[in-house]
Amino acid sequence: LRHLTRSIENVRRTGDLSLRIGMNRDDEIGLLAYNFDRLLAILADRTNVLEELATTDGLTRLSNRRTIMEYLTQQIDRSTTESDSISVLLLDVDHFKRINDTAGHAVGDRVLRQVADTLKRTMGKDERAGRYGGEEFLVILPHLKRAEAVMAAERIREAIQGSPIHGIDWPVTVSIGVATWTGHTSHGLLATADLNLYRAKENGRNRVVADDIPLSKLPAASIPPPSQPQLRF
Ligand code: GH3
Ligand code: MG
Ligand code: MG
Repeated sequence: LRHLTRSIENVRRTGDLSLRIGMNRDDEIGLLAYNFDRLLAILADRTNVLEELATTDGLTRLSNRRTIMEYLTQQIDRSTTESDSISVLLLDVDHFKRINDTAGHAVGDRVLRQVADTLKRTMGKDERAGRYGGEEFLVILPHLKRAEAVMAAERIREAIQGSPIHGIDWPVTVSIGVATWTGHTSHGLLATADLNLYRAKENGRNRVVADDIPLSKLPAASIPPPSQPQLRF
């Protein structure tokens, strides 16, 4: 009984659902321990399902917006600590409304899934893509400087243009805005990528733009606050 209560106490304290009591006894205490372990297994399975639903986009199986934003913040922190580069791509399907209007929403959905699959295929270690909005995707490229990020973006753009989609007899293309972190906030990075995406659309779509946009041209929230003086006790 002492082992049983300590094990249960341990599960409660750590919240670790992978723990098991693992008692093999042919009596009521053994039955209690067995059923407790079965309950832990059920709880762990359901927690995994809920976690998957809460973090993944249902249509594309990429990270959802909240999860990809968390990853971005985490990677910006890592870059700061390690004085490393980080770039992002904001990718938007060209004339997507036309695809929906002419081929139907089911084909539109297929386009989104196929774009997501291409992103998954082209992504390296630590790199991650998420569905940022309707037909917009955010790709996080840790360690990459601007020129390398542009090369990655071009590879993605060409791969998408070169993948035929059942139900559409013209090539589906994307426009991509690139931003490389230069000390602004995550908002600044996204605002830069967004401005570049807008420029890519303006310049004719199906292209990558990676202009270096001065902080003064970004929205105020993008500029980091002046560093606070350290309090000493
Ligand atoms: P642009 O080249 O300037 O990006 O034009 P666009 O037509 O791609 O852009 P617009 O913003 O006008 O249209 C986006 C459309 O995406 C509108 C919306 O109905 C559609 N959409 C958003 N989410 C989904 C989805 O999950 N499935 C489908 N099939 N359509 C979606
Ligand atoms: Mg859009
Ligand atoms: Mg679009």
